[in-house]
Amino acid sequence: MKVLVLGAGQLARMMSLAGAPLNISISAYDVNTDAIVHPLTQHKLGTGLANAIADADVITAEFEHIPVAILEQCQQSGKFLPGSDAIQAGGDRRLEKALLARCSVASAGYKVINNEADFKQAITSLGLPLIFKSALEGYDGKGQWRLKDPAQADMLWQQMADFLATDAKQAIVAEQFIGFNRELSLVAARASNGEVKAYPLTENHHVNGVLSVSLARPVSSTLQAQAEQMFSAIAEELNYVGVLAIEFFDVDGTLMVNEIAPRVHNSGHWTQQGADVCQFEQHLRAVTGLPLGNTALLRPTLMINILGEDTTPAAILGLAGLHLHWYGKTKRPGRKMGHINLSADSLAELKAHFAKLIDLLPATAFPELEQMLNQIAD
Ligand code: ATP
Ligand code: MG
Repeated sequence: MKVLVLGAGQLARMMSLAGAPLNISISAYDVNTDAIVHPLTQHKLGTGLANAIADADVITAEFEHIPVAILEQCQQSGKFLPGSDAIQAGGDRRLEKALLARCSVASAGYKVINNEADFKQAITSLGLPLIFKSALEGYDGKGQWRLKDPAQADMLWQQMADFLATDAKQAIVAEQFIGFNRELSLVAARASNGEVKAYPLTENHHVNGVLSVSLARPVSSTLQAQAEQMFSAIAEELNYVGVLAIEFFDVDGTLMVNEIAPRVHNSGHWTQQGADVCQFEQHLRAVTGLPLGNTALLRPTLMINILGEDTTPAAILGLAGLHLHWYGKTKRPGRKMGHINLSADSLAELKAHFAKLIDLLPATAFPELEQMLNQIAD
């Protein structure tokens, strides 16, 4: 079976690694260069979307910021899962917020802003504080502005007006600021027969808007049920096939959806060591029509992103339950270069091993891990 992935980054790479034992071979289409590449070696296999489509049994995507013309060409082939509508809903916050409203899932109140009148009306109707997000191209907290103090409104509007002037297709979505207790995400798969299998909710810690640590541990069945109900509502509305991730705010035990990602997700990387079938294999199973695998948590596992570094102390590999995953990328400040998965038989043991790992890692490259360890409730 041949699967074409739109995007040639680490998610395509990890799908390739997970697909090999099932005889699923992955090629990746780089939407920026028009090259078809091998996702592990980046070796060029060919050029042109039409060739890539012709050679594939199934087409999927590893990211959502893909030109609509490319999505439509893939859709017309009849091979594309989860399909153009789902990818667009993940890549345009206007479509995403409208989708969430249609599915009646709780989410921060919002208003789409195209001009100064919209901006003023958002402040009046939604109140402050507000968070403003670019409709297109936002990721890792980029393209966001916050407004707490009404005295700053004019200055902020100037910045946003300059931003809007750069691209006629852009807009800004204003959202009510949610005072949450913590951030959680659900990674789950829906098969073409409608079957859904969800991994346990994962607790996510961000540093400067970028995911730093995800923790998978036994989770409250009430919260898990809330999350799965929202997942089903969204996945059914999109007639979704594949892995879909949903980011939530936990507000005193009630979940609100922050955003969706129509693909495998950084907060699901722990499944490589903490579950029977990882999210990458699960996605491939779903889009190729194979039965979905077991999603139960086998052992508490946490994932730490490696940002902007291409080495870690060799000694960390001596820790029990530690797995290192590099993405083979060239080093750039802040770039997602790899991740560490750490598993243990119990949460107490995981915390003890996390403490040892923190001692071995350079604090400058891995900030705030100590605080995150202290925040893990027993
Ligand atoms: P990524 O793609 O890395 O998940 P992103 O750029 O798509 O990030 P969001 O997830 O929407 O952006 O926002 C980044 C972070 O900003 C969130 O993880 C959360 O901490 C905070 N945030 C976003 N929206 C709100 C909100 N309405 N209220 C409070 N905090 C928010
Ligand atoms: Mg996010």
